[in-house]
Amino acid sequence: MFAKRWDFITSVTDMAQLPEIGNTEIAFAGRSNVGKSSLINALTGRHGLARTSSTPGRTQMLNFFGNEETPLTIVDMPGYGYAQAPKDMVDAWTRLVFSYLRGRPTLRRIFVLIDSRHGIKPNDSEAMSLLDKAAVSYQIVLTKSDKIKPPQLKRLEEETLTLLSKRVAAFPRLIATSSEKNQGLDLLKAEIASIV
Ligand code: GDP
Repeated sequence: MFAKRWDFITSVTDMAQLPEIGNTEIAFAGRSNVGKSSLINALTGRHGLARTSSTPGRTQMLNFFGNEETPLTIVDMPGYGYAQAPKDMVDAWTRLVFSYLRGRPTLRRIFVLIDSRHGIKPNDSEAMSLLDKAAVSYQIVLTKSDKIKPPQLKRLEEETLTLLSKRVAAFPRLIATSSEKNQGLDLLKAEIASIV
C-alpha cells in the first residue's frame, strides 16, 4: 500500500467537516516538532505532503491522506505542547481531538510519536490519558532514533514500556524510527499493514 501514490484529501477544523466514514483510519499524534510531518512524508513517499505543524498559533486541523487503491486513510492530528500555547488553544485541541476520537468507529490506531531524545513528557502523558479515556488503541513510535546511541535507545524503550504497562489502551510494543536515516520505517509499514 505504501508503494502507491498518496494524496491529500481534506483538512478539518471542526466535526461538521469530517469526511464520511468509510476506510479504516490510522492517525499520527505528537508534540510539535517531534518529527510527525517528516515521518508521514517518509511513509507516503511524498515529500511535502504533510506540512510542518511547528508554527505556534497555527489553526488546529486534522489532515486526511489517502490513495485510490488502498482502503486506508492516514490522519495527521494537530501537534500539541507548544511551550507558549494559550489555554484556549489547548482546549481547542482537546475538543477537536476528543470529538474525533469518540465519533470515529473506523479509527483503528493512533501512533503517538515520542522524540527519542526527550522520552515521554507531561503533555504526552496528558494526550495519552485522553486516548485512554476515549478508549482508542494507541502505539508509541519513537522518532529521530538516529539522534541517540543504541544503548540509550534500549534504555528509553525499556522505560517507556514500563510506563505504558500502567495504561489502559496502549499497545505494548514500540517502534523506533528515523525518517532521516530511513530506520524502522519498514517495521512501521508492516505494523500498519497488519491493521488494515
Ligand atoms: P513536526 O512539527 O512534528 O511535523 O516535525 P517535523 O517533521 O517538521 O520535524 C521537526 C524537526 O526535526 C525538523 O528540523 C526535522 O528535520 C527534524 N527531524 C524530523 N525527523 C527526524 C529524524 O528522523 N532524524 C533527525 N535527526 N531529525 C529529524
